[in-house]
Amino acid sequence: MTKEFSYCPLCATPLERGYEGEHLRMLCRACGYVHYRNPAPAAGVLIVENGAVLLVKRRYEPFKGLWSIPSGFIEYDEDVRATAAREAMEETGLAIEIDALHAVETCFDDPRGNTLLVLYRAHVTAGTPSAGDDAEDIGFFPLEDLPPIAFEAHRKVLGELAGRA
Ligand SMILES: [Zn+2]
Repeated sequence: MTKEFSYCPLCATPLERGYEGEHLRMLCRACGYVHYRNPAPAAGVLIVENGAVLLVKRRYEPFKGLWSIPSGFIEYDEDVRATAAREAMEETGLAIEIDALHAVETCFDDPRGNTLLVLYRAHVTAGTPSAGDDAEDIGFFPLEDLPPIAFEAHRKVLGELAGRA
């Protein structure tokens, strides 16, 4: 369980846990503020070349040292496709072009909080592969021979892809 707000972000009154309808939420009795918790949206790219998928090795926690699909959180004023392309560039040094929406999955095992992952299929248009930002290493892996994968949603997507290949 991730940490929750203790004080009302609007009036600084201590929040109380209470029911709003059927959901337990943090509520402000003073000003009526209700703290709605939602999954944090993230976007990523699935790049498959000759039966091998591009993965990044995680430099930081959570799941440091495991591999994942290039992805990251969407900035407030950023288009979801721009996030996918930006994360690909930051983590792999590769410019990409999005081909199609591949999958939308909820991630329930990120200790920072639940996320909603929007995954696009994409192909490389330019650049030299090089690990950057929060990637320690990058590489193409045959779908039938993947390294240890971080996040259940990534394992699900890659598993389905391997089953189809
Ligand atoms: Zn308040």
